[in-house]
Amino acid sequence: MLNQNRSNQLFERAQNFIPGGVNSPVRAFRAVGGKPLFMQKAKGAYLYDEDGNRYIDMINSWGPMILGHAHEGVQQAIARALPDSLSFGAPTAREVEMAELIISMVPSIEKVRMVNSGTEATMSAIRLARGFTGRDKIIKLEGCYHGHGDSFLIAAGSGALTMGTPDSPGVTRGTALDTLIAPYNNLQAIEQLVSENKGAIAALILEPVAGNMGCIAPQPGYLQGLRSLCDREGIVLIFDEVMTGFRLAKGGAQERFGVQADLTTLGKIIGGGMPVGAYGGRRDIMDFVSPSGPVYQAGTLSGNPIAMAAGMAMLSYLNEQTDFYQQLDAIANRIVSDLKEVLQQLGLRYTINQVGSMYSLFFTEQNVIDYDTAKTSDTERFGRYFRHMLEQGVYLAPSQYETLFVSAALGEQELQQLKTASYESLKALNRA
Ligand code: PMP
Repeated sequence: MLNQNRSNQLFERAQNFIPGGVNSPVRAFRAVGGKPLFMQKAKGAYLYDEDGNRYIDMINSWGPMILGHAHEGVQQAIARALPDSLSFGAPTAREVEMAELIISMVPSIEKVRMVNSGTEATMSAIRLARGFTGRDKIIKLEGCYHGHGDSFLIAAGSGALTMGTPDSPGVTRGTALDTLIAPYNNLQAIEQLVSENKGAIAALILEPVAGNMGCIAPQPGYLQGLRSLCDREGIVLIFDEVMTGFRLAKGGAQERFGVQADLTTLGKIIGGGMPVGAYGGRRDIMDFVSPSGPVYQAGTLSGNPIAMAAGMAMLSYLNEQTDFYQQLDAIANRIVSDLKEVLQQLGLRYTINQVGSMYSLFFTEQNVIDYDTAKTSDTERFGRYFRHMLEQGVYLAPSQYETLFVSAALGEQELQQLKTASYESLKALNRA
């Protein structure tokens, strides 16, 4: 058994003063049983908890630690920026460099606005789409998560799905009525919604590769189909690339699948671990944002100099490496083929979905292509698997409905440990 004494003590204390003891719900481990581990530090591929246990990290802060933890380049950039103060609330050269770099890497982005989280990015993007089109309704896909903005907490994935509350109290009926829902990977359902709401839909927002109901790839032609439909109907197509941006390719899922969005939302990775988000896209749409246009959106800490320094270091590194994404994907391919081998050895037929460096093992034998098929997973079994993996020094996302994120810091030793841990954990489950 893991020694978790100090984590347990901290959790006890935390529950008195923080709702549920955590600052973001999934961290509470409710979906997997047991109590959360409190982390003390991390380096490269490893997380270290308050009791001194070490884990291979397969979440990497839900994506941003793509180079592994405490990467020298990012750390040094922050150290260099620190003496110049932490915030000005005034424009800086770094923000200009950051905008130029993002625009050079993501072809569909012609102008970009920095914010402080993925949630802010998506909330701002739909306000902008509404302001630009003069329409009120948006289409969101079942099981996709776009942060905790009111309009998105309807059939939401990630923590909302994990906690069994995909619709949150506190979201007004009026707001909910403006969010139309369709299943993922189903073009026909969207065609139907659009024809029933002719001229009323401002935006269609989706994760181009879903990560918040586990990892689900768009089926061939799906993103292209959405693109044509939005063009035909004057709907703003928003790709929420908070997870996929700068992860699936330099230009994100858009580059990987060859489809351009009108607006793109970014987060996590673009701060290198600091709290940063951004939204950007077509110049004519972005010019609607205040102060060049009428759609208001602002932020005291937006473009924060330390966050920009960290983000610049991260994105420049990704931009400058020639084979980075091939190498990262090769690590993920190896993990997935090891896992398939393990499943085969144990006679298990669970589903594995993978897109580049994102993957999920679903405890179901069905193909997982949308929210309904994701929900066929045996989440109790997943919980036991999760706990076995922890015991063996592997930190997975504490929910079936989350993707895993591979980092470039995983080496041969970690890959072997991962394979052995998967084998032992799945074997133990099978015995039980
Ligand atoms: N969009 C997507 C696709 C996400 O995965 C998330 C967070 N997991 C968000 C938006 C919200 O980002 P944040 O948690 O930084 O507000």
